[in-house]
Amino acid sequence: MFRTNTCGELRLSDAGKQVTLAGWVQRTRKMGGMTFVDLRDRYGITQLVFNEEINADLCEKANKLGREFVIQVIGTVSERESKNKNLPTGEIEIIASELNVLNTSLTPPFTIEDNTDGGDDIRMKYRYLDLRRATVRQNIELRHRMTMEVRRYLDSKGFLEIETPMLIGSTPEGARDFVVPSRMNPGQFYALPQSPQTLKQLLMVAGMDRYFQIVKCFRDEDLRADRQPEFTQIDCEMSFVDQEDVISTFEGMAKHLFKELRGVELTEAFPRMPWSEAMRLYGSDKPDTRFGMQFVELMDVLKDTGEFSVFNDAAYIGGICAEGCASYTRKQLDQLTDFVKRSQIGAKGLVYARVQEDGSVKSSVDKFYSQEVLQNLKEAMQAKPGDLILIMSGDDAMKTRKQLCELRLEMGNRLGLRDKNKFSLLWVVDFPMFEWSEEEGRLMAMHHPFTHPKDEDIPLLDTHPEQVRADAYDMVCNGVEVGGGSIRIFDPELQDKMFQILGFTKEKAQEQFGFLMNAFKYGAPPHGGLAYGLDRWVSLFAGLDTIRDCIAFPKNNSGRDVMLDAPSCIDQKQLDELNLQIAKIEE
Ligand code: ASP
Repeated sequence: MFRTNTCGELRLSDAGKQVTLAGWVQRTRKMGGMTFVDLRDRYGITQLVFNEEINADLCEKANKLGREFVIQVIGTVSERESKNKNLPTGEIEIIASELNVLNTSLTPPFTIEDNTDGGDDIRMKYRYLDLRRATVRQNIELRHRMTMEVRRYLDSKGFLEIETPMLIGSTPEGARDFVVPSRMNPGQFYALPQSPQTLKQLLMVAGMDRYFQIVKCFRDEDLRADRQPEFTQIDCEMSFVDQEDVISTFEGMAKHLFKELRGVELTEAFPRMPWSEAMRLYGSDKPDTRFGMQFVELMDVLKDTGEFSVFNDAAYIGGICAEGCASYTRKQLDQLTDFVKRSQIGAKGLVYARVQEDGSVKSSVDKFYSQEVLQNLKEAMQAKPGDLILIMSGDDAMKTRKQLCELRLEMGNRLGLRDKNKFSLLWVVDFPMFEWSEEEGRLMAMHHPFTHPKDEDIPLLDTHPEQVRADAYDMVCNGVEVGGGSIRIFDPELQDKMFQILGFTKEKAQEQFGFLMNAFKYGAPPHGGLAYGLDRWVSLFAGLDTIRDCIAFPKNNSGRDVMLDAPSCIDQKQLDELNLQIAKIEE
């Protein structure tokens, strides 16, 4: 037997027991005639003691242990003199009587402890060592517990876990596909699924009724923000349901996860917010509702009421009120202006107005406006003495709202209003069916082309498609989209019309989606579903800043696996077998 116990298991009540432990040497300390070793495994850390007076040879052997050596120790559990309240095993130590070195280790390139000296790159390169650190390992454990709870919940609701293929056909809608050349079909390619969307719909046609899968999805996007080229979805689909049924099933799942994994009982129904309202009040389809600071539109108050041409020319003027921030210094205000001017945000500037103790308003545009107008501004913003009003404007309302959204989030950070231990959930509903793509010069599906339009908006499909709303819904938590889905079209004629609006010719639609359209001719049930982002859920529960930290082997920001050094070139022989030729490689 390699071990009788793990390194996280023994307590004071075990004192006197003879045990065998195995694990990694986290560190050794020599104090007088004693050598202490912190022995680590997945379960915790246990202190080992080697006493020179009792067994000099053994102690000598212990003194030679290096960091991360793999050892096996036999000894007796004993009460510790100086107890460590921070460790569950901190009341005991093992008085060693035998030590076997099972393997040695090179000196690790960074300290494998909670607080490490290793930078991001080195820890990614040696991810297997980084994963030995409790702080990283705990995220992986949480991920495991989450998938177990997801399975438990969905199984109890009658869902079947069904695998769908990873090698499928390329679809033109949505993000760019990762493709895989087919050796047996020269010149042809598989695509890796961006999501099993059409397959899960076919499972509904097949009568599976309730499907789920914890599934890898692949999107070849430029890696802005917190994205990974491969990520995991909890993908679900249900038959004979409407939007309410899907929402209540998956709100139930969210509540289940919060209860089991965070010990948080969410009793109230999650609020619902139409997309248009989310954009109006927060400039985002995933508003962080942990704090207020909602937008106030100021066109009536500030456009053409003074000589400020920037506002007079604007298509949108909006403000937020930062409570108690009138005392911001010039430097702090300049920092905020710099913040909104950063290239990622791209605003031209920021106007501010301080509400003074006597109720008067002092602003950066004083010379253009009368005090009366500034008082109207104060009123519109419901600002009190001591508050700071921040105003942005632009000639593109949607763009300006998004910029103001960034400022609101920044203020939320500065004021400590985005507490990671507070959770604010909501459903954003009634998304527009389409959005205009400048790049493509046509309407694109905002969710995907299989999403059902709202029944009452179907007549608008022919006349004003841009006004059509969809039976689509996103679950948002703390400003993060944690899941989203829709009710699907199951009528082949309506689906045909959709493809037409999206600019597909009949032939092209048949070529790309014929398999689905044909299936729909054989009795497709009404159906709908949703996908949750597993990585995002885990990082939310673990309070992580990035999803990378809850993935065992993530890619870096350029989509590279630095540990495996992938992607990489392949041999000429492989290229020949695949009938591929590399045309040119840009440096
Ligand atoms: N397939 C969709 C997505 O990946 C989710 C859904 O509509 O169920 O966003």
